[in-house]
Amino acid sequence: MPDLATVATVLSSVKTATDIAKFLRESDLSLERAELKSKLADLIGALADTKIELVEVQETLAAKDKRIAELEEAFQSKDTLVRFSDAFYEVGADGKPTGIPYCLRCWESDHRKRQLVEKTFDKKVCTSCGHLYASGNAYPL
Ligand SMILES: [Zn+2]
Repeated sequence: MPDLATVATVLSSVKTATDIAKFLRESDLSLERAELKSKLADLIGALADTKIELVEVQETLAAKDKRIAELEEAFQSKDTLVRFSDAFYEVGADGKPTGIPYCLRCWESDHRKRQLVEKTFDKKVCTSCGHLYASGNAYPL
């Protein structure tokens, strides 16, 4: 996954492209045709590298936006979930846990609210991380 180093690489590619463009602008028309073609090829290469690196940065930003949205949702749910036995539950009007069980591991580790579903008659499984729970310790209330 790209990080700040990728941004530095993008900036370096942009600088390379800019330097080549400046060189072409400042050189008079005395450049040999072969040299001109070589510099233009370098310029196109630097711009292509920049484009590829920017796509990676764009993907990283999209992933971070998604994660921020998940964390905002988790933050808003923070006070509405309460632990009971081996799962988390919504808090009912009476202040007691109610509803379907949510994965303890996903909530405590990743702040993700993931439902537990029936795997076998005596096991529940998290729909996200696959963690197994004894049905006797995580059941709808
Ligand atoms: Zn889970």
